[in-house]
Amino acid sequence: MERVYLGLGSNLAEPLQQLRAALAAITRLPGSQLAAVSSFYASDPLGPSDQPRYVNAVAALDTSLAPLELLDALQAIELEQGRVRKDERWGPRTLDLDILLFGQRHLAEERLTVPHYHMHARAFVLYPLAEIAADLQLPDGRHLRDLLAACPYTGLERLAAPQVTP
Ligand code: ATP
Ligand code: MG
Ligand code: MG
Repeated sequence: MERVYLGLGSNLAEPLQQLRAALAAITRLPGSQLAAVSSFYASDPLGPSDQPRYVNAVAALDTSLAPLELLDALQAIELEQGRVRKDERWGPRTLDLDILLFGQRHLAEERLTVPHYHMHARAFVLYPLAEIAADLQLPDGRHLRDLLAACPYTGLERLAAPQVTP
């Protein structure tokens, strides 16, 4: 089993429900065990600003799936929850499931870059991640706490919504 961190996001069609449904689906992945889930956060959108705010969370998953098997499974969940792939980058979506970290691996495949290329600069990734993995060290040696110190808590709001427990 390897420890994987997943970023979840939604800004359409009841985002809180989308994240809860996604977490339920992740729980059912073969060879995998959901280990922890952060609080849910509201965040300002990246890219086009004429779209609703997002709800984001980070989950820890222990899995024996290979990285591309996991990506396929996550993309299947996105599609099951009505994600429509559009040309517009960072446009609104019912569900986004990104692989942030896969153990200590560096992956540079056509369909999969790990660590996620922009996680180090995204408040809606780093703050939830810190809730469930405060002492995390990235594969390049950087400490999560140092990334946090350089990433303002801007446009982010921790929601009081009931938490999901694995
Ligand atoms: P961003 O990657 O900036 O968060 P996004 O999540 O909206 O943007 P998507 O449209 O969800 O981007 O994904 C585009 C492609 O990114 C996917 O088809 C997938 O193959 C690829 N991809 C590369 N690395 C990853 C990763 N670590 N996790 C998920 N998808 C990835
Ligand atoms: Mg994304
Ligand atoms: Mg994505």
